[in-house]
Amino acid sequence: MKIWLNGKLLEKEDAKISVFDHGLLYGDGVFEGIRAYKGRVFKLGEHLERLYDSAKAIMLEIPLSVGQFEKAVLETLRGNKLREAYIRAVVTRGTGDLGLDPRKCPRPTIFIITDKIVLYPQEFYENGLRIITVSTRRNIPEAVNPGIKSLNYLNNILAKIEANLGGYPEAIMLNKDGFVAECTGDNIFICRDGVLTTPPSSIGALKGITRDTVMEIARKKLKLEVREELFTRFHLFTSGECFLTGTAAEVIPVTEIDGRKIGSGIPGKNTLRIMKEFRKLTGSQGTRI
Ligand code: PMP
Repeated sequence: MKIWLNGKLLEKEDAKISVFDHGLLYGDGVFEGIRAYKGRVFKLGEHLERLYDSAKAIMLEIPLSVGQFEKAVLETLRGNKLREAYIRAVVTRGTGDLGLDPRKCPRPTIFIITDKIVLYPQEFYENGLRIITVSTRRNIPEAVNPGIKSLNYLNNILAKIEANLGGYPEAIMLNKDGFVAECTGDNIFICRDGVLTTPPSSIGALKGITRDTVMEIARKKLKLEVREELFTRFHLFTSGECFLTGTAAEVIPVTEIDGRKIGSGIPGKNTLRIMKEFRKLTGSQGTRI
């Protein structure tokens, strides 16, 4: 396996970074998770735009143009002869000293890993996930805005640990006011009476690229009304359908939340149609490798 590191394609064993890298010492950096299907990278432009926006928000200047970054991603896929892949692009503040001052890090570290990812077994896509709400609240936007896809994922990891302790694969996180925000690595949608609702990303959630794609599918293909609106656990429990979206998980049904069956306890019909339309898009769109 070859890794792109600071401009070079290296063997995995040789792709090493310093223990003084602030990405490691402080979670000071940004990243993207991207997918390639059938020889095309899905929504590459959107992912790179979010990467550069995240970097801008933390005042990290990526020493590559967007075009150069795009080339690097494609070069890594070609170097690994991959047509189907999960791509992880990471930009850290770079190597500095033990203080947290980012001015001591003269050069960002950039690396791109292309690999496979399987988040959930097939069975969950067919029967749905059973998940819970956890007590760890999503970070407040006034501190580290969850819209920044930063390397500091402890907020999400703490929530994941809570879910795992209860024997569940994923956690619903509320924002500080108790409204549903998102899951630890996925956005959340509910559907009832022909209306598809997802929390507005401004309340403290990542503006997911799968989320945007699904909203477009729902509007254009399913002719559903789509709302970005605040809602509570009550609305989760009483929704007819629920599903999660993310680059790695794609679209996955949720059939139980906090012990309450969602709808009739099986993946909903709109969810199944959205899953199908999403698969059609990923199999036919994207930047050619
Ligand atoms: N929320 C969080 C916290 C995430 O980490 C992710 C995955 N990157 C998502 C939502 C889904 O975003 P996307 O559809 O862009 O992968």
